[in-house]
Amino acid sequence: MKRDVDVLVIGGCTAGLYFAGLMARRGFRTLVCDCSTQENLGRSYDVIHIGREYFSRFGLPEPGPGDSDYVATFRRSIFHSALDKWPKNNRVEVLVLRRVGFIRRLADWAREQGAETLYGTAFTEPLFENGRLSGALFRGEAGDIQINARLTADASGISAVLRTRLPGGDGVENFVTGDRDRFYVTLRYVRLKHPEKDRVEVTTTWPYYKTWIAPREESDGAIFGVGANLSFDYADRCFNRFAGKVRLPEYELDRIEQSSTPYRRPPYSFVSEGFVVLGDAACLTNPWSGEGVPYAWLLCSIAAEEFGKAMQDGAYPVQDAVWGVNVRYARAQGALFAQNLAMLSGAVSCTPEENDYEFEKGIIFEDDAEKGKGNLVLKLLKGFLSGRLSWKSLSCLAAAAGNGAKIYKHYMAYPESPRGLADWARKADALWAKTRSMADIAEADLAGMEAAEAASG
Ligand SMILES: Cc1cc2nc3c(=O)[nH]c(=O)nc-3n(C[C@H](O)[C@H](O)[C@H](O)COP(=O)(O)OP(=O)(O)OC[C@H]3O[C@@H](n4cnc5c(N)ncnc54)[C@H](O)[C@@H]3O)c2cc1C
Repeated sequence: MKRDVDVLVIGGCTAGLYFAGLMARRGFRTLVCDCSTQENLGRSYDVIHIGREYFSRFGLPEPGPGDSDYVATFRRSIFHSALDKWPKNNRVEVLVLRRVGFIRRLADWAREQGAETLYGTAFTEPLFENGRLSGALFRGEAGDIQINARLTADASGISAVLRTRLPGGDGVENFVTGDRDRFYVTLRYVRLKHPEKDRVEVTTTWPYYKTWIAPREESDGAIFGVGANLSFDYADRCFNRFAGKVRLPEYELDRIEQSSTPYRRPPYSFVSEGFVVLGDAACLTNPWSGEGVPYAWLLCSIAAEEFGKAMQDGAYPVQDAVWGVNVRYARAQGALFAQNLAMLSGAVSCTPEENDYEFEKGIIFEDDAEKGKGNLVLKLLKGFLSGRLSWKSLSCLAAAAGNGAKIYKHYMAYPESPRGLADWARKADALWAKTRSMADIAEADLAGMEAAEAASG
């Protein structure tokens, strides 16, 4: 079977469906292919959180009370120190949604915009014509399908099935997101034994342990989450360490879900000849939380504008014509995420007591009321002089913050054309080489845990 379209999207989840809808709305014949059945789409985990503001910002239908994908809205999140003190309130409205139903809603929206969806259709290989990408081959229930397209988008999630098969060399690196470049999330869906006193209505996070407690659809339910680099096993050990330090409400376990997200810098370019990479396939998650959906929508909306212009009058979108995707994304979000990724290794390298001091003084997390108050350098210095921050932790934090600031500046100066990329990438490589890998830090921590276990018999 053969098909001709303008835009082919591989992967029909939150990133692919949004991009497909935007391109279809611009009048392009758009086809989304997903290897999953329509029924199973998005089943890898159940409950998802998305900031309410993003729905109006990206022009998407907002789920609300009475909708099958809507669970609840909470209006603040709270962050606690490693010693379970100094709660920091973050007043942002967040929707709690059932993921499968929400993806169905997005698919309906994309189809309303004019996109077509094809399920049970798995990408097998890219197609090239005169050395340029021209679509892809798929395998479906009815056999092989050849789909020719002017633009092929890879929104296939962490496996990045097309990006990893491209030749690379033009900034769209074809790396595989390996085991050490992932954030491993375990969600425990629990029932509270005493919901009348322990009811969970907001998300509370303990960043030191990489753990959180979130609301669930049932009023006597909650989700205990943990996310960590390296492995599910290490993430579970982090959860156990947390449960040993912070009093958890009494509960019964319903079920456990485990899944991973990318945790590494994105490729230096999202676009090449007839190609764009989006969402988890582009490693576009927020380094602080591991969340990805609205951040991918930002890239999708920029890409739809730039490709929309470049593909007018039947034109094939060459890399030069869509380079604005990289430049605009770097300035809107990429530079900040790169800075945060580089800084995290410094922020996590401290003891529970040091983390508690950082919370007390609003050094890493600020309450809404503390924003912009106090001098950060002075607070750090006071911590050192009073013996509450060690020289080792202070210098680690300072080195990571310094490197993060340089990376931010470098990304803000992303080259205006592909000709500047080689030089820019060389300097970026040198800056990233100075960033400590979170997997290395996790590995050292794990070794410490194992040594302590062995010592205690
Ligand atoms: C446990 C957990 C909880 C999370 N919670 C949140 C949250 O609360 N809020 C938030 O914003 N983010 C959250 N995230 C991150 C978020 O889930 C991802 O960033 C987001 O799902 C990425 O969307 P995507 O469309 O890029 O990729 P995916 O959701 O991975 O979708 C990729 C699609 O491509 C399809 N595909 C794969 N291979 C092929 C192929 N060969 N051929 C055709 N199709 C293919 C897949 O079937 C899939 O449908 C969480 C992640 C995890 C693991």
